[in-house]
Amino acid sequence: MKRLSVLGSTGSVGTQTLEVVAQNPDGFSVEALAAGRNIELLAEQIERFAPKCVAVADEAGANELRKRVKLDERGIALHTGDAGLEAVATHEPCDLVVAALVGAVGLAPTLAAVRAGRDIALANKEVMVMAGALVLREMKVHDVTLLPVDSEHSAIFQALSGQRPEDVSRIILTCSGGPFRGWEAERIESASVEEALDHPNWDMGAKITIDSASLMNKGLEVIEARWMFDVAPEQIDVVVHPQSIVHSLVEFRDTSVLAQLGLPDMRVPIAVALAHPERVALEIPRLDLADAGRLDFEAPDRETFPCLDLAYRALAGSEAAPAVLNAANEVSVAAFLAGEIPFGEIARTNAAVLDAHLAEKAGLVVDSLADILAADGWARAQARERLEASDGPKTGSVQGVA
Ligand code: MG
Repeated sequence: MKRLSVLGSTGSVGTQTLEVVAQNPDGFSVEALAAGRNIELLAEQIERFAPKCVAVADEAGANELRKRVKLDERGIALHTGDAGLEAVATHEPCDLVVAALVGAVGLAPTLAAVRAGRDIALANKEVMVMAGALVLREMKVHDVTLLPVDSEHSAIFQALSGQRPEDVSRIILTCSGGPFRGWEAERIESASVEEALDHPNWDMGAKITIDSASLMNKGLEVIEARWMFDVAPEQIDVVVHPQSIVHSLVEFRDTSVLAQLGLPDMRVPIAVALAHPERVALEIPRLDLADAGRLDFEAPDRETFPCLDLAYRALAGSEAAPAVLNAANEVSVAAFLAGEIPFGEIARTNAAVLDAHLAEKAGLVVDSLADILAADGWARAQARERLEASDGPKTGSVQGVA
């Protein structure tokens, strides 16, 4: 029985993690859950999985949860805020922490889990994007195993199994191309929120779906792969594969290429991470290659989707630059989702903030969480300043058009 704590239990990966657990009740127990503001769903999860420790965003949520669940009677500890995330991340007993928060908020609790010696199933890619070098160092010190939940990184992890690092020549990340693949730049510039959220293959949270539309998600995954697999940025390539059947590939020095395939379903990489080094059965649709018929591949359009190359520029720039890029992107995506800016402004804001950082701080070395959070805070302020200085709501978003 593997004992799990889940950070972000009511989100997309969190709920699918609990589905995998529900399909394998003898394999896993749920010890601790951290949610944000979806108290109704958290209450259902508590009924179903009986954790001993839970966390919510704030006191209002805590009060609502107390009304719905008799926590004291059931011996369930309730925590709030950042301390709550840390309590769930370091809760004992626990064998594996599923880090499924979205964005920078997941960094501190995931680092706390690493320092507590917990193995990590990592869906929260911003942790590696913001602090890859630091997390890698801490993982070695605390003898922690990192299991990727991102579908591409899970594919690479599976393809690398049993291989020697020195035999790897290239990692090839596949990319669906998102909802705007093949669109003219002008049409993308004024795309609506609805259009950007309409991902052709994957059912994911709003933030990552927007990142998929801009290809920023693939850029963040390049950075994630650089640290997760400790490979040079030049060894990481991206190929567009619209069917999302081949989840990524590894090329070895003898030119042999190993790929991992499957239907696009996050429950598979989640199950791989949860069960490692074993595998568990999943009752979900299976890949039928004859039914799939064909698999297409093409080079990414780096001009129309400049966010991909911003990631390589950040990796080459400074140790803090990926955190800067990530923070600028969180602010610009939130502004787009709120109808405040056109889609095209996401990439322009991200580029402007990254360039401003590189102009001042090229070669900056990071050696603490505080350094990273300082870079993150600076970038958020820069991005907000830039967005506020522009002319307010633009046409092109759902709200803007209305
Ligand atoms: Mg992915």
